[in-house]
Amino acid sequence: MGTTLTASLSLETANSLDYDVIVIGSGIGGLVTATQLAAKGAKVLVLERYLIPGGSAGYFEREGYRFDVGASMIFGFGDRGTTNLLTRALETVGMSLETIPDPAQIHYHLPGKLEVKVHRDYEKFLQELIAYFPHQQKGIRRFYDECWKVFNCLNAMELLSLEEPRYLMRVFFQHPFACLGLVKYLPQNAGDIARRYISDPNLLKFIDMECYCWSVVPASHTPAINAGMVFSDRHYGGINYPKGGVGQIAQKLVEGLEKAGGEIKYKARVTQILLEKGKAVGVKLADGMEYRAKRIVSNATRWDTFEKLLPPAQMPATEKRWQQKYKKSPSFLNLHLGVKAEVLPPGTECHHIFLEDWDDMEQPEGTIFVSIPTLLDPDLAPEGHHIIHTFTPSWMGDWQGLSTQEYREKKEAAAARLISRLETIFPGLEAGLDYQEVGTPRTHRRFLGRDDGTYGPIPRRKLAGLLGMPFNRTAIPGLYCVGDSTFPGQGLNAVAFSGFACGHRIAVDLGL
Ligand SMILES: Cc1cc2nc3c(=O)[nH]c(=O)nc-3n(C[C@H](O)[C@H](O)[C@H](O)COP(=O)(O)OP(=O)(O)OC[C@H]3O[C@@H](n4cnc5c(N)ncnc54)[C@H](O)[C@@H]3O)c2cc1C
Repeated sequence: MGTTLTASLSLETANSLDYDVIVIGSGIGGLVTATQLAAKGAKVLVLERYLIPGGSAGYFEREGYRFDVGASMIFGFGDRGTTNLLTRALETVGMSLETIPDPAQIHYHLPGKLEVKVHRDYEKFLQELIAYFPHQQKGIRRFYDECWKVFNCLNAMELLSLEEPRYLMRVFFQHPFACLGLVKYLPQNAGDIARRYISDPNLLKFIDMECYCWSVVPASHTPAINAGMVFSDRHYGGINYPKGGVGQIAQKLVEGLEKAGGEIKYKARVTQILLEKGKAVGVKLADGMEYRAKRIVSNATRWDTFEKLLPPAQMPATEKRWQQKYKKSPSFLNLHLGVKAEVLPPGTECHHIFLEDWDDMEQPEGTIFVSIPTLLDPDLAPEGHHIIHTFTPSWMGDWQGLSTQEYREKKEAAAARLISRLETIFPGLEAGLDYQEVGTPRTHRRFLGRDDGTYGPIPRRKLAGLLGMPFNRTAIPGLYCVGDSTFPGQGLNAVAFSGFACGHRIAVDLGL
């Protein structure tokens, strides 16, 4: 009797620990993979080291404010075409979100008093830009129109795994011209296209900033495919903010995952990917617990995956080659501010980019990014107040080796510099402060589990467009990567694309 009970218990334990797919991390890339697979009937487990899902698309609450950790300019919530991947990811598991349309993507405050708003209305934006550069009217239109060509190709087809030959054949026969168009743009960068049509050096700098503010590299290094998506979708599906904050996206995906039979465990930090005969078969957690699955997906960055979760000495040659082409981008210095409503003049837009000198665009503390999500959803702050989330590039190296006191003082000094610069566009900001929290690259590393707090990979030199970005399979059988260090890169809609592709590839591999 005793033996039978032990045998059946150990069988039950073994079964409950066995999954079709384990996803390490619940960023949007990981959650889209997990939900796509759970919806197809796979037994899925997501392991998240933090207390809530979302990673860089998470949130935190302080004194009545609900702050977005990172992302707040959200693409992918359109209601038509195929590139509305956040809408589609939620739909797959029977979920949806109320969103609030943003009338402008960005209000630029740039050197030479270049004040341009990227209106949701394409023509309105073009006219505003042309008013500054009338002699480049034709070039401006040709450049942005060519970006539409890229977008129209993408937006014509179902976006799944480019590593799946049968899907590629099907898509090719359904949309031959769109596919050939994409093949043409895949090795190109946005700067190559811009220089074909535009000669004014200041306008080229503006195009650099149009790219830099999401790719963190200038146009010459920004893949044309990504630029085509961003520069067109902002006028097509538009920028839409989720009611209740960006954190809602991950929360809803988790709800959908659980409804579809998937599981998620929090405070579950994976410390090791388990290999048997060179194949990924499971994971080990910080508390010693082990889980096994037929397929393992890492939503951690490639540096974390191949240098921390696997023995760095055994890094596959493909990863070494990738690291020679791509490096870690800087992290950010973040200020999460609560301010009195009167700080913001009427007509203020939600997102701003601020820079005084073009030479500083890529420098640490050069370009300043600002998001004011309470202009779209006032419920995120106490009445009569707004949230200003502002951030600027910052390297981990500048924040190491400091005592607690030095770290605190350095944070305060950096915050004061940012606020003083922002007084140019928001006079009275300092006087109107109600709450302030400063985050550094160390904060990003600690709370997001990202090596050096990096925003993601950037090319070390000019590369052939997106050709160098890896897809989801890795050199290790059974191990896949998803998220911003896979094709097509950073941004919520981009990592959702990566999640669709990863889920698709694994579903085919598992015969689902
Ligand atoms: C300041 C800032 C502003 C941004 N603004 C925008 C914006 O406006 N619009 C936009 O589209 N994008 C923006 N982004 C980029 C966007 O947020 C990211 O590209 C995207 O969220 C990355 O998603 P991901 O799935 O790759 O991974 P992540 O968000 O990094 O999530 C990975 C998850 O894995 C977990 N994890 C890691 N290691 C382990 C482990 N060992 N065990 C268990 N769990 C683990 C982490 O805790 C995390 O939850 C911004 C990013 C930042 C930092």
